[in-house]
Amino acid sequence: MLNIIIFGPPGAGKGTQSDFIKEKYNLTYISTGQVLRAEMAAGTEIGLKVKDIINHGGFASDEIVTEIIEKFIVNHPNTDGFLFDGFPRTVKQAEILDELFERYNLKLDGVLSLEVPEELLIERMLERGKTSGRADDNIESIHHRFVEYENKTKPVLHYYQDKNCLHPINGVGTIEHIFSDICSVIDKL
Ligand code: AMP
Repeated sequence: MLNIIIFGPPGAGKGTQSDFIKEKYNLTYISTGQVLRAEMAAGTEIGLKVKDIINHGGFASDEIVTEIIEKFIVNHPNTDGFLFDGFPRTVKQAEILDELFERYNLKLDGVLSLEVPEELLIERMLERGKTSGRADDNIESIHHRFVEYENKTKPVLHYYQDKNCLHPINGVGTIEHIFSDICSVIDKL
């Protein structure tokens, strides 16, 4: 079994690389952002609760996202491994994930951290906004997402660094090149 977190600031390419990783390593993939967008689109109770916050670039509550993650883990008991994208995004979520792993007898194999300079991230997200239909791919929400990332998500990097499972990856370059760097790391886990 192989359990991996793909980590990085907004626009780093986590979703793009995840598509390749899950295929190659046969992993069960969850993006909390995708799940939350689906809840919003379906107008569920959760969706209505998080809509304004997410569209303005803020975070959904730790309670909501950890509940989504736990349900997902429980619903996939026979998987070859999980690939988490966009989760954990706060230290509290990382602590809860540790508890969930213990409860369901899972082990975290590595955290792949995509590193991309901020100017390039903004450029990528504005470009993506032209076709993504995402209400949060506009300049005001992007700025707010960066503030949230700096304040709440960056500390998660140190959390995993202290556990010796953080693997930095250069997220600048072609999709193929970055994927090949990712595979070199995963193959050694
Ligand atoms: P993403 O698709 O990963 O860029 O996530 C889009 C948005 O969904 C984020 O800007 C947050 O508003 C929300 N979101 C996704 N994952 C989480 C999480 N783990 N904790 C809190 N909010 C989240």
